[in-house]
Amino acid sequence: MLAGKTALITGSTSGIGKAIALQLAADGANIVLNGFGDAKEIEAVRERIERDHKVRTLYSAADLTKAAAIGEMMEAALAEFGTVDILVNNAGTQFVSPIDDFPVDKWDLIIALNLTAAFHTTRLALPGMKTKEWGRIINMGSAHARVASPFKSAYVAAKHGLSGLSKVTALEGATCGVRCNTICPGYVYTPLVEGQIADTAKARGMTEEQVKNDVLLAAQPTKEFVTPEQVAAFASFLCSPAAAQINGADLSIDGGWTAQ
Ligand code: NAD
Repeated sequence: MLAGKTALITGSTSGIGKAIALQLAADGANIVLNGFGDAKEIEAVRERIERDHKVRTLYSAADLTKAAAIGEMMEAALAEFGTVDILVNNAGTQFVSPIDDFPVDKWDLIIALNLTAAFHTTRLALPGMKTKEWGRIINMGSAHARVASPFKSAYVAAKHGLSGLSKVTALEGATCGVRCNTICPGYVYTPLVEGQIADTAKARGMTEEQVKNDVLLAAQPTKEFVTPEQVAAFASFLCSPAAAQINGADLSIDGGWTAQ
């Protein structure tokens, strides 16, 4: 379905981003991986994608909190593949604290990574998409792009902002073949959530099992985590011809969380 196209997925060395990279490679796209992690493990993922799916790959270690590094990553991708046809702004991080205690450096980090980075990648990818009259931009929102929870001020603000950026991108790209949407997952079982479970257990004096069931899945009516593969299948669908009229939408995949 995506043969000859190139997909750049930020934060694709782990969790949801990695699952999306594997899925879009299975769909035939060349893949630009990005993110931090163990160099050997990242190289193994890169080799696996090339071997299993006969596509080309590039890895960028760009720190997305730095505009110059994002510029270099996009230049390297364009030099290697000509255009970035599919951009998935997925890299993100979380910090949990009441507003009055919220560390200023954590606020700055979350806004830079979860929101501003997507502005930079989008502004650099759009010209090529417009020239080719085809582009798909998928921004990784969250249920927290639609509703709030206490103690997550920076994350909720960044994700709501990302939803706004998606809508503007959708309107500006609408007659140029560009589509932009926000996927809004509920809790997905990834290293990010594993860390949150451990931290919450320590902070509240609960077992990890109690945190999973009584804190995280309390908000998720199905009482089941979303899987990274389900989010990846959703992203793949958004790149398919059947999704060509889905534009500027906040698309929930949250087991009913935001239906409440
Ligand atoms: P994860 O921690 O497993 O992966 C995060 C990725 O971002 C990693 O590849 C990491 O190396 C990369 N990254 C972190 N800082 C970076 C930086 N400065 N520059 C470049 N890359 C950086 O997390 P995940 O759970 O897979 O989350 C991915 C996205 O999905 C995030 O935007 C997150 O907010 C969103 N999301 C996650 C959940 C969930 O429950 N896991 C729910 C809703 C939304």
